[in-house]
Amino acid sequence: ETRSKSLLYLENVSVSFDGFKALNSLSFVVEPGELRAIIGPNGAGKTTMMDIITGKTRPDSGIVLFEDDIDLTRKDEADIAQLGIGRKFQKPTVFESHTVWDNLELALNRDRGVFGTLFYRLTPDDKARIEEILETIRMTARRNDLAANLSHGQKQWLEIGMLLAQEPKLLLVDEPVAGMTDAETTETAVLLKEIAKTRSVVVVEHDMGFIRDLGVKVTCLAEGSVLAEGSIDFVSSDPKVIENYLGR
Ligand code: ADP
Repeated sequence: ETRSKSLLYLENVSVSFDGFKALNSLSFVVEPGELRAIIGPNGAGKTTMMDIITGKTRPDSGIVLFEDDIDLTRKDEADIAQLGIGRKFQKPTVFESHTVWDNLELALNRDRGVFGTLFYRLTPDDKARIEEILETIRMTARRNDLAANLSHGQKQWLEIGMLLAQEPKLLLVDEPVAGMTDAETTETAVLLKEIAKTRSVVVVEHDMGFIRDLGVKVTCLAEGSVLAEGSIDFVSSDPKVIENYLGR
C-alpha cells in the first residue's frame, strides 16, 4: 500500500441501474482541506457519485473509503452523516417560518437528537459558534429575519450554515449558484473558499464563470467516469471535454 492518507478515496466504482452503467470504474480522491469542483453533462453520473459517497446508493463494485480506512459501502446514510459528511442539495430546505438564528440553532440541536425543537438551552460556546457561522455566511445583520424573507441566494447560504453547524469534515454541495444573481455567485465562491480552509468541500456546478472564480482542481465526468481532471484551463481545453460537454 503506497496510497497516501486521503479524506475521500473512490477507486473503480461502478453502479448500474437496469443494466445502464451510471458509474463506470470511477476513481476520485479528495485530500483533507481540499476544495474541488465537478462538472459534466446531464446524466454524467455526478448525482450518482454523491449518492454513493453519502450511502444513498450502494456501488456494485469498487472501493469507497473515508479518512483512509472507513469503508463507506458498509455504512448507511445516517452513519455516514455522523462520520462528518454533509450534503447540500440544489434546492434550499430552510425553515421558512423561523428566523435565520433559529434555523442555525435548530441545526446545531440536530446533533443532540433534539432536531425540530428550540427548547435546548444554548451554551455560550453554542452562541459563539452560531455567531461565527453567521459571519461566514454573511448574515450577521440578518439574524432576526424570517428565512421566508431571504433572497434565494441567502437561503442557499443559510442552508450551508446549517450544515456547518454539524462540523462536517467533507461538505458536498450540489449546484449552489443556480438561480443566484451575479453578485451572489461571486460571493459564493469567496464563501466556499473560506469554508474550505477548515474542511474539504466538493462542489458540483455548471456555471463555468463560478468554477473559474473558485480556481480549484476540476474533475469532468462523462458517461460515469472521469473524462479529464486538472486546472480549469487544462480541463476546458481538453478536446474530449469540449466534445462531450462545453461544445454542446
Ligand atoms: P448527473 O447528476 O451527472 O446529471 P446522474 O447521476 O443523475 O447524472 O445520472 C446518471 C445516469 O444514471 C442517468 O442516465 C440517470 O438516468 C441514471 N440514474 C441515476 N439514478 C438512477 C436510478 N435510481 N434509477 C435508474 N436510473 C438512474
